[in-house]
Amino acid sequence: MTDTIAPPPSALRLAMDARALVANWQALSAMSGSAEAGAAVKANAYGLGAGRVTQALAKAGCRNFFVAHWREVADLLPHVPASQIAVLHGPITAQDIAYARATGARPVLNSLAQARLWQSSGGGLCHIMIDTGMNRLGLSLNDLGDCVLDGLDIDLCLSHLASADEDVAQNESQLRAFRQVRLNVQAKRYSLANSAGIALGSAYHADLTRPGLALYGGIPRPEFANTIAQVAFPEACIIQIRTLQAGDQVGYNATFTADHPMRVGVLALGYADGYLRCWSGKGRFVFAGREVPVLGRVSMDLTIVDLGQVPDCQEGDWLGAIYDLPAAAKASGLSQYELLTLMGQRFSR
Ligand SMILES: *Cc1c(COP(=O)(O)O)cnc(C)c1O
Repeated sequence: MTDTIAPPPSALRLAMDARALVANWQALSAMSGSAEAGAAVKANAYGLGAGRVTQALAKAGCRNFFVAHWREVADLLPHVPASQIAVLHGPITAQDIAYARATGARPVLNSLAQARLWQSSGGGLCHIMIDTGMNRLGLSLNDLGDCVLDGLDIDLCLSHLASADEDVAQNESQLRAFRQVRLNVQAKRYSLANSAGIALGSAYHADLTRPGLALYGGIPRPEFANTIAQVAFPEACIIQIRTLQAGDQVGYNATFTADHPMRVGVLALGYADGYLRCWSGKGRFVFAGREVPVLGRVSMDLTIVDLGQVPDCQEGDWLGAIYDLPAAAKASGLSQYELLTLMGQRFSR
């Protein structure tokens, strides 16, 4: 048997509403005022699929894309010029540098060591991240006097807000620090705001905003509630239907017991797909507009649901998870970011 055969379609799909994605980006662009809006497409575009997201946003006019790892660049290259791709983690190894040179994707330099590495390998246009109080990645304010920075040809000078989803004094203090950065770092453009930062007002917009979460339907602040629409729609196939009698128990550790005869379905979806055990006895799906609740424990590859409201539902039918991000975050205890990025490799996208 040397013939190859294409694998059958997945019993899981992560549907994307491309029109909602584009509308969200346009709304965030409008909210960014005179600043341009880019797009954070790291982590496979928050689970949605970096290729299709980048393609849709490029077509809508987006010209700045952010990934974290160099390994994420390849998914974008068919859709946008490499010069529009910024790699947030910057170059660590000689292979990173070689890849940057070969592709033309731009590094975000996060330390004096990275700046020296970039310069000694030939320099050229780059981006730079300055830490203004998060103490995550980036040059510290104390580094700014170092002469290696004088030789850099900087396109974007970035900083990142730690608490833009809250109304706290840290936002203003990071803004003040960023103003100092702008006086001390020569760059073509400056960028500070993530999704939540866009709602903090024009002082935070600089030249370019970098929304991620809100592009994909996340609502980090109430200001976005009426403008941002759901983009990600996980769907799973029912691969078995069975009938329970009163007293029958369901799933690992028998956490649900039927008190009347029930028709239940088994979905090809589990915690290995990012549908975590926090949805046990709590998650909800829909079929033809009617609700289908989760029964008992979510297992690795399977989830059992109550088909009581959907007698017309058959094996092979598809159910959509109720996955409105703010509500799902509240129900599950997971963050909106986690709810998106957890979605695993077994989903077709
Ligand atoms: C992830 C990330 C963003 C996007 O943040 P959201 O909160 O998802 O809008 C912007 N900038 C940097 C540096 C990031 O790491």
